[in-house]
Amino acid sequence: MFTADGQEYLDFAAGIAVNSLGHCHPHLVEALTEQARKVWHVSNLFEIPDQTRLGERLVAATFADHVFFCNSGAEALECAIKTARRYHYASGSPERYRIVTFEGAFHGRTMATIAAGGQPKYLEGFGPKLEGFDQVPFGDLKAVRQAVGPETAAILVEPVQGEGGLRPADPAFLRALREICDENGILLVLDEVQSGVGRTGKLFAYEWAGIEPDVMAIAKGIGGGFPLGACLATEEAAKGMQPGTHGTTFGGNPLAMAVGNAVLDVVLEPGFLQHVADIGLRLRQGLARLVDTHPDLLEDVRGTGLMLGLKARIPNKDLIAALRDQHFLAVAAGDNVVRLLPPLTIGQAEVDEALQKIDQACEAVRAAPAAQGAA
Ligand SMILES: *Cc1c(COP(=O)(O)O)cnc(C)c1O
Repeated sequence: MFTADGQEYLDFAAGIAVNSLGHCHPHLVEALTEQARKVWHVSNLFEIPDQTRLGERLVAATFADHVFFCNSGAEALECAIKTARRYHYASGSPERYRIVTFEGAFHGRTMATIAAGGQPKYLEGFGPKLEGFDQVPFGDLKAVRQAVGPETAAILVEPVQGEGGLRPADPAFLRALREICDENGILLVLDEVQSGVGRTGKLFAYEWAGIEPDVMAIAKGIGGGFPLGACLATEEAAKGMQPGTHGTTFGGNPLAMAVGNAVLDVVLEPGFLQHVADIGLRLRQGLARLVDTHPDLLEDVRGTGLMLGLKARIPNKDLIAALRDQHFLAVAAGDNVVRLLPPLTIGQAEVDEALQKIDQACEAVRAAPAAQGAA
């Protein structure tokens, strides 16, 4: 990335995992500009061929039978939550509307998604919290079993908590959640807004656990920088959602669909996901070496694929500021973690440069009087 006056930055924030193919990827630029010369928006009251195509491609590549396009992660989650409640309504059990969620979760900033996320800092001052979410500790199966009751509709979980501090769910935990859902006739809803579309080295993170959800929300990376989200569901889970039950004005318009299809063109190229897994591992190994070199500043490496984090021993904001001084962009996450979410297209050169800049930032922090005072 370059500033207006030409300074160069290495961007490992990538718009918070949005710029999955980096900035100005030629294929995305071409798809967007070509579409811009044709038609930008028509209502989805009309059939949009590229929307059908992107929907069919997502269906072919995942567990899903149906896709609803929207404009953001929170909207995709709203649709997922409505789908879960409506499923039980359509099944004759309207009393099943509650959803089990997890501590440290982040699902967006709408009224339903702040209630689902349950974080006091996002709920404060916005009136009564939307009813119907039961939060339990992340990874605690016993607590999940206790929370599931006759009013439960679904379990909602991020396979890798992003904002919560780069915490991957144990694959065995996800498999157990799948079993609990099957035993109780409730839906497994995944939030892959951050972990999806190649970020972990599989198209979707659930693949690592060998399970399939009933409903899944995606956004961020699928748009490559264009606001685009989607809610995916199986035929059965979507049975309560008929045309008109839910809707959107902007969602799935031709501009968004041109970009979404172009992102998939690249991510589904043979070898691309393997590249993400390989380069993610190399970045992770380099970060682990930096933790060894700077044990006073860095505690450990978190995450998977190119969804990585450094748990800091100094305030993460201070480390992020020091990184920015080195012209390196990263984002904060919960649990005092510095999040690294580079474009999936990075190579060894960017990994080497990133490691060097993080090393230099650590040296600079140690040399600064403030850090000595804190120590
Ligand atoms: C970013 C994010 C959201 C919310 O997406 P928005 O596009 O900001 O509404 C939801 N869930 C997860 C896991 C996210 O990372």
